[in-house]
Amino acid sequence: MSNLIVILGAGESGIGSAILAKQKGFDVFISDNCKIKTKYLEQIAKHNILFEEGNHTLTKILEADEIIKSPGIPDSAEVIKEIREKGIPVISDIEFASRYTNAKTICITGSNGKTTTTLLIYHILKTAGLNVGLAGNVGKSFALEVAENNYEYFVIELSSFQLDEMYKFRADIAIILNITPDHLDRYANKFQNYVNSKFRITQNQKSSDAFIYCYDDEVIMNEMKKRKLKSQLIPFSIKKEVENGGYVKDNKLIININNNTFTMSIQELALQGKHNQYNSLVAAISSELLRIRKDDIRNCLRDFQTVEHRLEKVLKVRGIEFINDSKATNINSTWYALETMKKPIIWIVGGTDKGNDYSQLSDLVKLKVKSIICLGLDNSKILKAFKDINVPILETKSMNDAVKSSYYLAKEGDVVLLSPACASFDIFENYEDRGKQFKKAVRDL
Ligand code: ADP
Repeated sequence: MSNLIVILGAGESGIGSAILAKQKGFDVFISDNCKIKTKYLEQIAKHNILFEEGNHTLTKILEADEIIKSPGIPDSAEVIKEIREKGIPVISDIEFASRYTNAKTICITGSNGKTTTTLLIYHILKTAGLNVGLAGNVGKSFALEVAENNYEYFVIELSSFQLDEMYKFRADIAIILNITPDHLDRYANKFQNYVNSKFRITQNQKSSDAFIYCYDDEVIMNEMKKRKLKSQLIPFSIKKEVENGGYVKDNKLIININNNTFTMSIQELALQGKHNQYNSLVAAISSELLRIRKDDIRNCLRDFQTVEHRLEKVLKVRGIEFINDSKATNINSTWYALETMKKPIIWIVGGTDKGNDYSQLSDLVKLKVKSIICLGLDNSKILKAFKDINVPILETKSMNDAVKSSYYLAKEGDVVLLSPACASFDIFENYEDRGKQFKKAVRDL
């Protein structure tokens, strides 16, 4: 009997899966219809794996017993349609790798805050001395970590695309931070499909597992009413005192789980802003569930280093502060960025619009923004949304122009905030490129 695994997409997750599959004795074939990056070609050669690039040879692909698909490939791709027609099982790298580890998994999903929260939890567990790996959307792929290490715990960031191809995987601790519209193009423009995808993180959970969820998020709360979840339910909130969960009251973070209490002043948190109160609550709850020492939790929440491109302080020039929030690629994350600012804002916004409703930002813009600098090829929606608000709006087409204009408009005591609420692909390679160009332009002032 043949046991061929075909891997579609030779990125981080594809290469990791190929290496693990080879190690487990499968026949492996990698197929990528674009050019494969040199660093991955080196890995492929080192492990002696069959591959093709710039093409999908269907006859070969359709011989597979199982397909591991990169999360970047949409269901609408021709090759996927053919595979589905033939009924070959398609799974994600996470599903595949989970078959080969007994590690306890702490899994994080949500529309915003995944990377920050994943890194925060990892920082606490690692500092506390657990034998813990970091995987999923951050760092190395889960499959590669399973192939190369023997961790007892894994902190895993999961996107909805990875969750879509997960079936038997079970999270010991599952977390949904929030659900707001995103990626709807991949979900037939049906928000419910996207919500269902996020809730897959709870599938297969048992009563001894935990599900940590945001009590302030209406979408999550409504969805929970429809479902019978078996796991221990642990809510978090910054608005209400919840039972057996975590909340913020009188400027204190309070965790109360299974008669165990942890408290900490929110002023002490390394990550400031309301969104980060949520992220810190989640990290503290997860750590409490894993019985990490309170001192370790406290110290780590205090000394965590901000993640690049997420409300990252860049520099103060002439008393003007510059903040890089290039990773804010949707309205919700920009809402929190504007909300967090305590000084008058010169706001750099725009890029590739993903169906944004800017009216959700109007109140904050009226209250806090002094000038709007659009940085996108097509800024018409932004211009229209804010034309009646009495602040100057100008258009720029390069990061240098945007930063120079912001510097010209700002006064001592103001903050220049890059928080685009849009993807970056119209002018930049990706959000990292956009953030790096911002920082360079600021440093060159
Ligand atoms: P993700 O991995 O889900 O994209 P990140 O941690 O990379 O999330 O943060 C993306 C953006 O969202 C950043 O601009 C960040 O400041 C903002 N953000 C972080 N946590 C939250 C949260 N809990 N709710 C809303 N926005 C958040």
